[in-house]
Amino acid sequence: NPNNTDLVIVGAGLFGLTVAQQAVEHAGARVHIIDVRDHIGGNAYSYFDDETGIEIHKYGAHLFHTSNRRVWEYVNRFTEFTDYVHRVYTTHNGEVFPLPINLGTINQFFHASYTPAEAKRLIEEQAGEYADITPKNLDEQGKKLIGKPLYEAFIKNYTGKQWQTDPAELPASIIRRLPMRYNYNNRYFKDTWEGLPKDGYTAWFEKMIADPRIEVSLGVDFFDESQPLNRKAIQAAGIPVVYTGPIDRYFDYDLGELKWRTVDFKERRYDEDDHFGCPVMNYADADVPYTRAIEFRNFNPERAESYKPGKTVVWEEYSRFARRGDEPYYPINTEDDKNIYAQYQAKAALEPNTVFGGRLGTYKYYDMHQVIDTALTAYDEQVAPLLRK
Ligand code: FAD
Ligand code: UDP
Repeated sequence: NPNNTDLVIVGAGLFGLTVAQQAVEHAGARVHIIDVRDHIGGNAYSYFDDETGIEIHKYGAHLFHTSNRRVWEYVNRFTEFTDYVHRVYTTHNGEVFPLPINLGTINQFFHASYTPAEAKRLIEEQAGEYADITPKNLDEQGKKLIGKPLYEAFIKNYTGKQWQTDPAELPASIIRRLPMRYNYNNRYFKDTWEGLPKDGYTAWFEKMIADPRIEVSLGVDFFDESQPLNRKAIQAAGIPVVYTGPIDRYFDYDLGELKWRTVDFKERRYDEDDHFGCPVMNYADADVPYTRAIEFRNFNPERAESYKPGKTVVWEEYSRFARRGDEPYYPINTEDDKNIYAQYQAKAALEPNTVFGGRLGTYKYYDMHQVIDTALTAYDEQVAPLLRK
């Protein structure tokens, strides 16, 4: 009922849940969250598989990591975290190597026993003419960072499968987030804190909104005028809105569509306790059509007792361009996209009573911790003033 609602939030992802929690805590607001899906949590949602007891991340593997103290303290109010540390391996030419590329990868690849200084010299030599340039694209960035042989073995074909775009046309920033290490440290992330929610993602998210002033309606589309919490009705009633759906959809795509990549998951069940011996196996070569495979039970080894013995679930990831109606996962962010987004952003700034946020609402590839951080700031700077009005 719009009459007893102070704030409508479109999207029960981490952005929407964080704003809802803050609005109740700081303003005592009565919040109504709607989501077109049949569950909360957005892309970070997970469920426990009936057959095996394994937690499956429905929209692809989600690993929590952050160096942001405010965010780490905030999330720890709602869940404990396991001591999981993310590590990834990759298969190349029938051999398994550790990632991110580190001294172990280098020595295995060259059948050598280089010291850190020797390996550094070798890579500099192999970077050749790329060593001293300022990389303009992913291809140059890759060759500069790890030299041509390693780039061609571990990055070139994987990136080709992931983006189906010539690496010379991709922004260097895509691989800048991967560290290159001249020691044997194969932690995937550089962040201060990491872990997985002890009782699963969904238990964490439920705790964030466990307050009678927060109501959630699932299976409800903001643009569907046959339901009472639709855009026209809410705006006519003058209720503030936090919108975390696609920004181009909000404006009926009138300036064009923003481009995304999506992932298709193919599930395989094996009658084994452990199929890979690790949670994530990348496939560096072009002859394997998927980029990587996730073995979910290896994210939570501490739950071994609760798993059905002799069963494991693996998801292979196939990446492709998203069409309208597909799940938008990775913003492509060509120059064209950036221009279109800037124009939508200008229009969004003029929308009365409406705050745009999250990955879809701001066309940004955010990790979970970044979404939470931007939501905390958006609450203070944009939502709280609307609630006071
Ligand atoms: P979302 O989670 O997308 O939530 C938006 C919600 O809005 C959705 O539930 C959608 O159904 C709803 N919505 C949209 N339109 C409407 C409408 N018209 N009406 C009603 N509801 C609507 N982050 C990490 O930190 N670590 C990781 O390891 C990691 N791995 C990832 C792997 C993949 C494959 C992907 C795609 C993302 C990954 N992320 C990871 C990022 C993480 O998923 C996001 O940062 C986070 O989920 C974004 O939250 P959000 O609220 O902005 O958006
Ligand atoms: N990448 C690669 N080989 C790998 C892993 C990553 O070439 O084995 C490149 C690829 O371009 C990818 C980017 O590094 O898009 C970022 O990798 P990350 O694992 O962070 O990807 P995400 O989890 O965001 O899909």
